[in-house]
Amino acid sequence: MVPDNGRAPPCHLPHPRSRPAPVLRPFPAFGFRAPCLPPALRRPARRRPLPLFRSPLLPRSSFPGMAKLYFRFAAMNAGKSTALLQAAHNYEERGMRVALFTAAHDERSGRGVIGSRLGLSRGAATFGPETRFERAALPADIACLLIDEAQFLTPEQVGQLHRMAHVDGLPVLCYGLRGDFRGEAFPGSARLLTLADELEEMKTICACGRKASMNMRIDEQGRRVLHGEQVLIGGNDRYRAVCPSCFYADDGVDPARAPGLFG
Ligand SMILES: [Zn+2]
Repeated sequence: MVPDNGRAPPCHLPHPRSRPAPVLRPFPAFGFRAPCLPPALRRPARRRPLPLFRSPLLPRSSFPGMAKLYFRFAAMNAGKSTALLQAAHNYEERGMRVALFTAAHDERSGRGVIGSRLGLSRGAATFGPETRFERAALPADIACLLIDEAQFLTPEQVGQLHRMAHVDGLPVLCYGLRGDFRGEAFPGSARLLTLADELEEMKTICACGRKASMNMRIDEQGRRVLHGEQVLIGGNDRYRAVCPSCFYADDGVDPARAPGLFG
């Protein structure tokens, strides 16, 4: 339509030859692609993967699968308590709070005290066979649970700690002996070796230079004790960490007439 003045209106559309050429962007799979691809050829938007399984019974505030039950075991005098105190310090250095437990009947450093042979010591809550480990009974703001003398846990308590790690999302670090002076497992250690998500052997050496993995109980004359109660609290005066060769060295000798290995 021509206006009244007889002139054509100004055209604002650019001439086809004056349009800039389309920019070709690199596309990894196809080299270059045109700016506008039909929807069927476009790369689909990235989606977050869905969890394979989420129980409706688990609280959404927890992170199941993130926390673990750890068992760090060794023979005696390998530095387990020192490592526990170091782990607690590492958490607290980062502004996180921890809860410490030790066996109630282990009073070598005092009741409710975790002591290391290097001279460090620290107070801790105590557990006995009657203790029940539940998340609700612990402070809400702790980031980790550390347990010394974990060989004295009952198998049921280890089950509670395993549940606490995986249902409540609280990491649990247990430090303890694997076996007793007869070479038999403590019930709690056997359960820990079965359930723990991560096992770590802390190493120490025998007097002969080999790796010490056994605990030898000795009497006042330094002779090996073969029989007795599984639990007898004592330190360097009653126990030695030895290698298996030294553990069985005087097997054929009458203990009453055996020379003292550690006089
Ligand atoms: Zn040895």
